[in-house]
Amino acid sequence: MDFGNGTKCVQAGYTPKSGEPRILPIIQSTTFKYESSEAMGRLFDLEDSGYFYTRLANPTNDFVAKKLCELEGGSAAMLLSSGQAASFFSVFNIASAGDHIVSSAAIYGGTYNLFAVTMKRMGIDFTFISPDCTEEELNAAFRPNTKAVFGETIANPALAVLDIEMFAKAAHAHGVPLIIDNTFATPINCRPIEWGADIVTHSTTKYLDGHASSVGGAIVDSGKFDWMAHKDKFPGLTTPDESYHGTVYAEKFGLEGAFITKCVAQLMRDFGSIQSPFNSFLLNMGMETLHVRMPKHCANAQAVAEHLSAHEKVAWVRYCGLPGDKYYELGKKYLPNGSCGVMSFGVVGGRAAAEKFMKNLKLAAIVTHVADARTCILHPANSTHRQMSDEELNACGVAPDLMRLSVGIEDVKDIIADIDNALECI
Ligand SMILES: *Cc1c(COP(=O)(O)O)cnc(C)c1O
Repeated sequence: MDFGNGTKCVQAGYTPKSGEPRILPIIQSTTFKYESSEAMGRLFDLEDSGYFYTRLANPTNDFVAKKLCELEGGSAAMLLSSGQAASFFSVFNIASAGDHIVSSAAIYGGTYNLFAVTMKRMGIDFTFISPDCTEEELNAAFRPNTKAVFGETIANPALAVLDIEMFAKAAHAHGVPLIIDNTFATPINCRPIEWGADIVTHSTTKYLDGHASSVGGAIVDSGKFDWMAHKDKFPGLTTPDESYHGTVYAEKFGLEGAFITKCVAQLMRDFGSIQSPFNSFLLNMGMETLHVRMPKHCANAQAVAEHLSAHEKVAWVRYCGLPGDKYYELGKKYLPNGSCGVMSFGVVGGRAAAEKFMKNLKLAAIVTHVADARTCILHPANSTHRQMSDEELNACGVAPDLMRLSVGIEDVKDIIADIDNALECI
């Protein structure tokens, strides 16, 4: 049966048989027992599937990955210890020293640093391109050694909405996959694979968990990108892996399984960024209510954004649900049911007034987080982006007076009253 995403949130992934626990069990075990070392050897050779060591696979994690896979409409998925690990693995699984990636410039600061500094040190070059670029500008960014295109459905914190179809078209015209970080939209509000994305990543730390309890990440493969059709570009998938007895992932595991199997067999084996089974149990609990929480986040955020934009002490608001927002039209196309609970805005009086405003909030907490049940706020210029000059801040789409507000699922009248009270104080 083809269930809707609400039913999948509650029921997909773990489906117990007669007499088994109704609730997803936490298999808190590093290892798994076998009757013979021959049986275990077949697992090591990737000849049989099964569990032997939790760094490589764990049943609790796999059930939760399966739920996310079904929600995104993918073919295979894996959980990781953080969103950062997911971003890194998604790119490093297909790019090595000497390769090049085209990335939207409007991405999460941690991802930007990973790409521009750390992966650059590993010999991988990135071209950062405005998400508002034209098709010609996008096509011009490719090189013969380009291996992927990367972007975020809704950029954190710039809140730009990506034209996924245009980016997918350009990627495919150059024979490479499009990787989309779908953290802010979640599969409830956008399923990037339906718009042409090949690989979807998540920081599950945000809405998927939804309660700010566990750091985690995930990668979902669409199973649609034909690695063999671009054999020379992706030797890691299309030629024998000597560290796995000459396995050719794209041949042995097909379109559906090659990307994730290689990512687990090589990168998880060597880097070991696993999600703990206990955290994935909590993640699964969060995902059971994702389809109920997201519409509430969006409705609350829409009301707050409208209220802010009409307030005399507010200088500007960025939220794609506001008619007149730069990304309103793209939002209507890709996020017809709402975008997310996060918006950014500035107050009259700039940076100093922003600090005063934040100090006087009572319900909204100042935290380095977004996208959980509680309303929270952050001033990047004074926290996460502290090391940057005003010029640098403006260049990466984070104005010095920008406050990132993550609207929670409390009663919206209380959120608005808190904001109004703090605005009075400036
Ligand atoms: C938070 C975030 C990340 C990084 O995830 P962690 O779980 O903190 O490692 C990546 N992408 C986006 C869009 C994020 O918001």
